[in-house]
Amino acid sequence: IHEASLESDYMANVGQLAAGIAHEIRNPLTTVKGFIQLLKPYLNEIGKEQYAEIALEEINRANDIIYEFLNAAKPPEKKKTEISLNKLIKEMTILFESEGHLHNIDFSIQPCDVIPSVFGDNKQIKQVLVNIIKNALEALQNVNRSDARIRLSAETKQAKAYIIVEDNGPGMSQETIDQLFVPFYTTKENGTGIGLSICKKIVEEHGGNILLYSQPGAGTVFKIELPLFSNKKNS
Ligand code: ADP
Ligand code: MG
Repeated sequence: IHEASLESDYMANVGQLAAGIAHEIRNPLTTVKGFIQLLKPYLNEIGKEQYAEIALEEINRANDIIYEFLNAAKPPEKKKTEISLNKLIKEMTILFESEGHLHNIDFSIQPCDVIPSVFGDNKQIKQVLVNIIKNALEALQNVNRSDARIRLSAETKQAKAYIIVEDNGPGMSQETIDQLFVPFYTTKENGTGIGLSICKKIVEEHGGNILLYSQPGAGTVFKIELPLFSNKKNS
């Protein structure tokens, strides 16, 4: 037996155990949440309603962390098919257009000549895009600029396809860039720091890469590099 396979068995067991624990923690949290909601009117009566609100917010936060962790711990389904980036990008626009509108952020697609297909798990690639676009929306909500925008586009170069998410938000410091993909690293008050570490795991599992260009004050560009469908289908 190789050391590497022992280690991956061990990791699989730890992962399963952790997922089990995470799952079990959700049940008591749901109970506590219910009781705090019942207590809320009484706390309002004595002018302490913020106690209930803070407690509920913190429970929601714990739930978010567990939810994202469970998603990350799930064994990856290997359902790779042809994904049309054209279709994917349009779906993302439908998903985020109205939220962008709500916050005065222009969400648009950059037209491109050849829109490629990639080879991957549709659900997982969608999750990657959702996480990256959500981050862009959150980043832009913190800057007060009238021309806030997110652009979504795709391109091919050599044997690779790229999905590109660009925002003109606050950008990132070098310190943030260095720790971006570290699980639980967040600069947000209510962040979990799990989103991008999941993205990295998924993209790497697809034989791809996440490229990043960001500068404080100038905005951020995420490029998701994935293998082209035409190169993968015969291998
Ligand atoms: P979370 O969103 O919960 O903080 P993520 O892993 O999704 O966790 O992101 C980690 C950190 O990366 C964020 O807290 C933020 O500091 C930084 N970040 C990610 N995307 C952007 C972006 N588009 N603009 C500026 N900062 C970003
Ligand atoms: Mg995030």
